[in-house]
Amino acid sequence: MMLYDHEMRFSKFGFYPKKLISLMRCYPDVEYKAHFDLSVWDWEIYLTANIFENRPDQKYNAKKHATLYWADGRMLPRSELSNKSKYWSLQYKYNDSTPDPKNFTREDIERIKEFGSSENRKNQAGSPMFFFDFLYSARSRIIIEDHVVKTSFLGKKTKVHERIVPALKNVEKTILKAAATDSELKAIVESFGSADAYHWREIRDTSRKSFHSYGIALDILPKKLKGKAIYWSWEKDRRGEKWMLTPLEERWTPGKKIIKIFENNGFIWGGNWIIFDCMHFEYHPELVNKF
Ligand SMILES: [Zn+2]
Repeated sequence: MMLYDHEMRFSKFGFYPKKLISLMRCYPDVEYKAHFDLSVWDWEIYLTANIFENRPDQKYNAKKHATLYWADGRMLPRSELSNKSKYWSLQYKYNDSTPDPKNFTREDIERIKEFGSSENRKNQAGSPMFFFDFLYSARSRIIIEDHVVKTSFLGKKTKVHERIVPALKNVEKTILKAAATDSELKAIVESFGSADAYHWREIRDTSRKSFHSYGIALDILPKKLKGKAIYWSWEKDRRGEKWMLTPLEERWTPGKKIIKIFENNGFIWGGNWIIFDCMHFEYHPELVNKF
């Protein structure tokens, strides 16, 4: 039997799987105490964080705790260790370019069709949400709404989780600075109609929560779509089963420069997914940071 199937590294946190160290670095305000639990042959990780982040004036500075197991990068509670295959690893490969449907084979198309079918989406594996439930205090609507704050993004009112405000404000500042000397970028910013983020809802066709329910996903919609495709499911309703073949030039995009600025600040862009969602950005530093 192999002791561990991941690379191990020394770090200031200890001698842990390399990917665990990288996760720790992405959320440095969280305290991690890990020890190898021989009874389940996995790392047991005791997490501690402030209940309220970015609020130094908070009346009470209580801490929250959770115990999760590494489970090859899934961060699962002990009760879910036997269901590991139901979950993706938290640090899956994020494509930082959009797959071009011109290159799809017939097999690819069948696979994507199957992936996008309602029946399949109910049963397929998904992101394990336990770590994010801990991080964002997202166990219920009432609890998370204590952490959702009103803000604005490029002049549009929005509500986001307090934890992502610094990253989002940095995205905004960087875009505005670049747009001051780039008329093309300025025109794109002016074409934005809304930037909605927090919304308590489940993902279409599944019972999982969307990252909008955590206030860490932001949808940027243009004032006018001008016939462009923006979301795979709307395209499925419009074009039927060939939605995944929508040519890249017929899809709406906020443009490479804006996408790059978001990625540099820890966000991924949904337009790079095969199940494309070109309005959607999600805060996942563990997917874009190269530690
Ligand atoms: Zn979205």
